Amino acid sequence: MTAANPSGGEPGAGPRARPRLTVVSGPSGVGKSSVLAELRTLVPDVYFSVSVTTRAARPGEVDGEHYHFVDRETFEAMAARGELLEYAEFAGNLYGTPRGPVTEALAAGRPAVLEIEIQGARQVRRAMPEAQLVMLVPPSWEELVGRLTGRGTEEGTAVRTRLSVAAEELAAAEEFDAHVVNTDVRTAAEQLLTLISGKTVS
Ligand code: 5GP
Repeated sequence: MTAANPSGGEPGAGPRARPRLTVVSGPSGVGKSSVLAELRTLVPDVYFSVSVTTRAARPGEVDGEHYHFVDRETFEAMAARGELLEYAEFAGNLYGTPRGPVTEALAAGRPAVLEIEIQGARQVRRAMPEAQLVMLVPPSWEELVGRLTGRGTEEGTAVRTRLSVAAEELAAAEEFDAHVVNTDVRTAAEQLLTLISGKTVS
């Protein structure tokens, strides 16, 4: 899989390519949140979308920062008004990307990153074919099972649901433009950085 085709031309290297939208997907438990948190420390100029969800907040999650936590009625009204760039149901809850902030960021010249599941990634691909789709994958299936069962944030049934969805998500990896293996959070974040902005960490 490729890691190239950076979009962010350096000054003097010709016209800057259009800032691109990057979708990061990957099975539950692969470490998307940790890798993206690390990525934030590397790239101040990137817009990270904050999704809307009907899921209950986990301990430590802050409304407006990790997610906008809303009830189903509010979510469905936003979707009906066309305010979501994409949305999907995942493990019994609705998740969606507010359209406005992403459009504004791209118009202002900032690359934007969405951390979403695969049905949403497919919708983005249809709506914005220029978007780049990256899948974060675990070093192995056993590693993923270990991380998900050890996380302790979900009930047994929820873990089983997430594992079966994870298997489906990994099976769709070929639909993605690039894969990043999360063996080590820092290395994975650096690889994502190169894909998003063309920059490398010195
Ligand atoms: P979690 O409940 O673990 O925070 O997220 C569950 C799944 O929903 C993850 O795969 C996450 O990437 C995905 N997700 C988070 N926000 C969105 C969104 O706005 N749209 C879609 N389609 N998926 C999302």
